[in-house]
Amino acid sequence: MDHLPVFLDLAGRRVLVVGGGRVAARKIELLLRAHARVTVVAPSLQPQLALLVQAGRIEHLAREFEPQQLDGVMLAIAATGRPEVNRAVAAAGEARTLFVNVVDDGPASSFIMPAIVDRSPLIVAVGTSGQSPTLARRVRAQIEAALPERLGELALLAGRLRARVRAALPDALRRRRFWERLFDGSIATQVLAGQGNAAEAMVDAQLQAAMVAPAGVTARGEVYLIGAGPGDPDLLTLRAQQLLQQADVVLYDRLVSGAVLERVRREAERVYVGKESGRHRITQERIHTLLLQYAARGLRVARLKGGDPFVFARGGEEIEVLRRAGVPVIVVPGITAALGAAASVGLPLTQRGVAQSVAFVTAMGEGAEGLDWRALAAPLQTVVFYMGVAQLPRIVEHLRAHGAPADRAALIIEQATLPAQRHIGATLEHIAARARAAGIGAPALLIVGEVARSAGMTDNVHSIP
Ligand code: SAH
Repeated sequence: MDHLPVFLDLAGRRVLVVGGGRVAARKIELLLRAHARVTVVAPSLQPQLALLVQAGRIEHLAREFEPQQLDGVMLAIAATGRPEVNRAVAAAGEARTLFVNVVDDGPASSFIMPAIVDRSPLIVAVGTSGQSPTLARRVRAQIEAALPERLGELALLAGRLRARVRAALPDALRRRRFWERLFDGSIATQVLAGQGNAAEAMVDAQLQAAMVAPAGVTARGEVYLIGAGPGDPDLLTLRAQQLLQQADVVLYDRLVSGAVLERVRREAERVYVGKESGRHRITQERIHTLLLQYAARGLRVARLKGGDPFVFARGGEEIEVLRRAGVPVIVVPGITAALGAAASVGLPLTQRGVAQSVAFVTAMGEGAEGLDWRALAAPLQTVVFYMGVAQLPRIVEHLRAHGAPADRAALIIEQATLPAQRHIGATLEHIAARARAAGIGAPALLIVGEVARSAGMTDNVHSIP
């Protein structure tokens, strides 16, 4: 190990920064975040630093570097663009047995600054001993994506609870189990999902349980209602990926792509609950029962739905059933098919002067008769029909009957964001025939409105005359 990583408590301690440019400003910003007392040495300062001086947040010595400026200082950073000055700072620091960092010059430095992921109070520092700052930044970015934004809040909660837990659970093993359960279970998930109050309310019960329970008691189950997006796994949210990595069992729909399932924790049990599965028809009630049963076994259950769980997905019914049973639920939004499809063909769903609003509609079954077709046929809007392939001729008929012109633009997108994506653009008059000729099948969306006109020009189904 070429460098020892340490976390310095710089609060109220003096740090000297030599240099008044952009690089120095970046270092100073970091030092101020750590509450250091910063003195900057530079004949002149860039505007941002001048403002900090004016605000009294840093001290400024408006002259060249001199070794005695290091008196009473704990650390120094040389960030001038002049190598001879930087080297003079390093030498003067060495003579006083001070740690000095020379920006972008590892060999001249006695300490280097890592790339950091800041979820204060939790901090991850990444370094390559100066071999490749770029590589360190890339690793940092990967860690950044893997760590939930509110991890720091979780650390703070643990900090607040520490004394209480120690008093309640004197036995170290039991205490460790309690913490592991807390970080694995619904308290942590709730905190990370921004529901800190609900989480704190659960702490007492969990602590009580840990005090009376024999070792190894069952944990409390929970359900994550996760939107899987339209198919491309890179369109999963970070939270969806994090929760898919901690699920014990995953209940997934027909529309969840294989590529998305690849992102599920390997050890997790996968349960297909698609409703149109061959001769089996899994009812919504059966899905409710499964969710409750798995949760009752203390498992972390991911309920994975295509698109968004609250857009034409019966997520509302599932959350209702779970809430009534007292099972903690976390809802993770997903990119709904309309948004994924529109993005994939570069079609803006609203556009000044072309579409002032956008409607998501399902035209399935008898419900279609209850729709306000006059409103849906009106101009200056975009209407996206879900689950509409089989109904295509009827949808067109209704729209036309309620005043939509024959030449209104329409676009069908099949398997949006998936490798087999196809789309067909045509006028309302011709769209149904063209879709039939191309053999368009589910899942597909119909987008009606003038915004579809330019995207429709780039029709990628070439087999159509
Ligand atoms: N909750 C989902 C919608 C479920 S309804 C969401 O928010 O996207 C199922 C309908 O969604 C399908 O019939 C189809 O119209 C649409 N759909 C879902 N995924 C799709 C995809 N990848 N491409 C095109 N349409 C899709």
